[in-house]
Amino acid sequence: MTTIVKYSTDHAARNNFPYEIISPPFPSRCCWGRMARMGPLQEEGDRRFYYRRCEACGFTVREFLSAFDLERGVSLVGQAPDRTWRWIERIQYQATIEHAA
Ligand SMILES: [Zn+2]
Repeated sequence: MTTIVKYSTDHAARNNFPYEIISPPFPSRCCWGRMARMGPLQEEGDRRFYYRRCEACGFTVREFLSAFDLERGVSLVGQAPDRTWRWIERIQYQATIEHAA
């Protein structure tokens, strides 16, 4: 699976979208509510996602959209991120997967 996000503790967070993004390997408390979508909807096979990056620490994840999200379509764009800790847990889980990949 290709991604432009590189998780690194050796390099400072850097945003070189759409070519490369250096991200801390894990989110911090600052990420809650500071994650901003970057760029247009990305497609990879039959999966669609946005890159979402913390404005404070540079932590980046891919926010995959489910079929349900896609049905709701553009109404999602511009909405604030889910304001629950469940959301942080979800991206933390995803970061763990991608970090191990
Ligand atoms: Zn952050």
